[in-house]
Amino acid sequence: MADNTEVIVNPKEDIVDPWTVQSSSDKGVDYDRLIEKFGSMRINDDLIKRMEKVTGKPVHHFIRRGIFFSHRELEMILEKYEQKQPFYLYTGRGPSSEAMHLGHLVPFICTQWLQETFDVPLVIQMTDDEKFLWKEEIKDPDQTYRLAYENAKDIIACGFDINKTFIFSDIDFIGGCPEFYKNICRIEKKVTFNQVKAIFGFNESNNIGQVSFPAIQAAPSFSSSFPKIFGGHTRVPCLIPCAIDQDPYFRMTRDVAPKLKFLKPALLHSVFFPALQGAQGKMSSSDPTSSIFLTDTQKEIEDKINKYAYSGGGATLEEHRKKGGDLDTDVSYQYLRFFLEDDVKLERLGKEYKTGSLTTGDLKKELIAVLQKLVGGHQEKRQRVTEDIVKQYMKPRPLNYKF
Ligand code: ATP
Ligand code: MG
Repeated sequence: MADNTEVIVNPKEDIVDPWTVQSSSDKGVDYDRLIEKFGSMRINDDLIKRMEKVTGKPVHHFIRRGIFFSHRELEMILEKYEQKQPFYLYTGRGPSSEAMHLGHLVPFICTQWLQETFDVPLVIQMTDDEKFLWKEEIKDPDQTYRLAYENAKDIIACGFDINKTFIFSDIDFIGGCPEFYKNICRIEKKVTFNQVKAIFGFNESNNIGQVSFPAIQAAPSFSSSFPKIFGGHTRVPCLIPCAIDQDPYFRMTRDVAPKLKFLKPALLHSVFFPALQGAQGKMSSSDPTSSIFLTDTQKEIEDKINKYAYSGGGATLEEHRKKGGDLDTDVSYQYLRFFLEDDVKLERLGKEYKTGSLTTGDLKKELIAVLQKLVGGHQEKRQRVTEDIVKQYMKPRPLNYKF
């Protein structure tokens, strides 16, 4: 098997794992079923109210709109925060391509909001080793190692606190931090091949690097992996915001943690940012027509939305005016749910589209303006990220935080 990514035409059931996201319905993945299957918890209104009470501010619209919809032990993290006890955030990026897309931005935007709201440290793992192991077309780890530093610039442009954020390439850090590698070894020793077969669907044809990689993604969940960063505090609780396809890694991590007398990490899961062609698939780099890249020009954004964004509108204008459009399948509306912050305007657009007074063309126009501003703004911020700034974020050093 070259890559686990396999396109199955019209699957009977949703497929969601770290390599494939494909829904059996044009409305996208059935996230309620996924919660049941994975055994996580829905983020309900009570939990949102509790978050708002604890932080004294409204939750991010990603949380309010159910884009971050599922969690594991978020209550535990809120309790720590209430008791003025420390915790840290951990998220990551697989640097497989030069250009990141809007889907990749989702966890980072939420993580930035969490860092700012809770004023906590953050570690960001760049899995340059993993992408070398998985991508057939990548012939040398130097390629992904370079991309780790390129992608770090996009991540830094999201506005993370330079005094509280440590970004690291696995290739660098495993070579330089014995405590990190010791934790990897500890995890490897406690997880059998049978377990990873069951969790990830590995078989005898996987290369041996792929089989052991989950231990490397697990290790940053434990503060003992970062003696320099956390000043020797080995039991700081961890919260991991990520897309829900990453949950298998952290189910394994939570399973192994007590065996090593480590704390289980808490999780916050997001839905997928849909492909331009519709919610059946996620936006994905390997299909450029499915994606808006952070490197796209203003014109490219406009053209892609106009050409590819799937319409939930009626077949003819007449029919649309009569019956209205389908908000669940209309890609432009779905994208606006992610990136149009104004709740009142979003609701108005939704209502007018549903009743047919607004067309897909009108929604596309709104969306193009929102995305041009978002991507244009990102490009400006990224341009200001110098090599020296990247070095500062990626230098192992104590973070500015009282543990
Ligand atoms: P490729 O098509 O080459 O696999 P990709 O766009 O799927 O690239 P990956 O590097 O595989 O990007 O993505 C790594 C992780 O980023 C995914 O496992 C997922 O957690 C997150 N991610 C990727 N695409 C999306 C998306 N559209 N929405 C939300 N999260 C995403
Ligand atoms: Mg992928």
